[in-house]
Amino acid sequence: MLGLMQDQPLLISSLIEFAERHNGDGEIVSRRVEGDIHRTTWGGIASRARQVANALDGEQLLFSDRIATLAWNGYRHLELYYGVSGSGRVLHTINPRLHPDQIAWIANHAEDQILCFDLSFLPLVQAVHAKCPTIRKWIALCDADKLPADSGVPNLVSYESWIGGQSTAYDWPTFDENSASSMCYTSGTTGNPKAALYSHRSTMLHAYAAALPDVMRLSARDSVLPVVPMFHVNAWGIPYSAALVGCKIVFPGPALDGKSVYELIEAEGVTFAAGVPTVWQMMLGHMQANGLKFSKLNRTVIGGSACPPAMITAFQENYNVEVLHAWGMTEMSPLGTLCTLKNKHLALPPDAQLQIRMKQGRAIFGVDMKIVDGAGKELPWDGKAYGDLLVKGPWIVKEYFKGEGGDPLIRDEQGRGWFPTGDVATIDPEGYLQITDRSKDVIKSGGEWISSIEIENIAVAHPAIAMAACIGVYHPKWDERPIIAVVKKPNAEVTREELLKFYEGKTAKWQIPDDVVFVEAIPIGATGKILKTRLRELLKDYKLPTC
Ligand code: AMP
Repeated sequence: MLGLMQDQPLLISSLIEFAERHNGDGEIVSRRVEGDIHRTTWGGIASRARQVANALDGEQLLFSDRIATLAWNGYRHLELYYGVSGSGRVLHTINPRLHPDQIAWIANHAEDQILCFDLSFLPLVQAVHAKCPTIRKWIALCDADKLPADSGVPNLVSYESWIGGQSTAYDWPTFDENSASSMCYTSGTTGNPKAALYSHRSTMLHAYAAALPDVMRLSARDSVLPVVPMFHVNAWGIPYSAALVGCKIVFPGPALDGKSVYELIEAEGVTFAAGVPTVWQMMLGHMQANGLKFSKLNRTVIGGSACPPAMITAFQENYNVEVLHAWGMTEMSPLGTLCTLKNKHLALPPDAQLQIRMKQGRAIFGVDMKIVDGAGKELPWDGKAYGDLLVKGPWIVKEYFKGEGGDPLIRDEQGRGWFPTGDVATIDPEGYLQITDRSKDVIKSGGEWISSIEIENIAVAHPAIAMAACIGVYHPKWDERPIIAVVKKPNAEVTREELLKFYEGKTAKWQIPDDVVFVEAIPIGATGKILKTRLRELLKDYKLPTC
């Protein structure tokens, strides 16, 4: 017997319709590429998203055709999120920090038909357009009078003239909720990039889950600043969850330095911000140097790479901001776990609470997780056993676009498919996940494993250290030993011996790095994460002093 409830597919267009009807005057504020601050509302976004949909209907596109963006976080990008997906096309957000050859490869693989770009990426478009035969129209996200003459880019139009003449009326089509809505290529350190192809259903379920009180705790009273780019797993789903709750969104545009982000947070009464640790490192540095405080910010979600405990403490103790440590990945839309305390933890002393908060947190309803050993046997949730982390759920990929890389899933005895995350983790009896490492970054020393994340967390807790990255280097007896590459804070001093001494009592003796390498900068990849592959290349001639 089937239930007798209405059969209404979960479609992204319903989010923007809801936001317009119930929170139509909710603000959307954007720092533009032009440098000024632009203000609109959910109603304004909805109206222009319908113009986008009408403009797309005039382009002889097929259902599910891919429309690409090379754009910062801003209102026009948000209009494309809804206009493209809502009208049945697939929004392909491209990371502009990739190499032009990679961008061309990705655009060809996705068979993008139209590419919309912020003017700051014009040089990139000029470099790639000839290599992207499927793209028949290039749309610069600007007013008609800002369109550069003689750009050399064929079929180039301005966004404002493209949508300007279109009607603001549009009936969003109804179709299967499993239809593709957007796509994002993984940063992929090996092999060709692979794309996660999200559906309307997966995006909607993720939007509900992300807003929950024990996840991002979003409400109509929030002013939300996604520093995490809209080209990095849909800004962790915030553009969708924000419409669902009707909160204010503040988009930082291209200005991601500590000063600009801080000023925007203060000027727009931001209560909640989201980003990777490197962004917050810059902002905290700026605040410390200038003795600044927040007036409204009360929480921030930090993920994408491990958030050092020193950053959690700095936010909490110096600025009264709660850090929600989150873990996820492109293949997971991206949220998997998020760290909030349970009721019984509230009475614990601050140190014991910090021990919990530094973990990546508890699974969000919808995500099943388990850790397994090398033979695929499930390991206990005792907080000690570590193994490969597998996940499954309705917003986790079952395969990559065009079947790239074959079937990625691992089947259990019941035949259910689990996605191997490539991360190594422990899970404690309370269900708190702690990522030990990427499996390829874990350091294998004399048959034991050392977590590079743990070694980095200790280094950045030293007052003189701005950034740290731990890698394993060859050792004739132990196979691998850890070394730590560090960047010092401006005008701060610390010697190799002092830093190594700082490790004593904070980790087992055999886990203390064998050496410290002082560097000017640590290579950062396109999504703001430390690029260990590049660091290993840079240090390829390095020899341990003990060998
Ligand atoms: P991406 O798909 O580029 O977002 O990368 C996903 C990977 O980033 C995960 O598989 C983890 O290795 C890493 N990651 C994400 N969040 C965290 C976190 N909070 N702590 C440690 N690693 C993380």
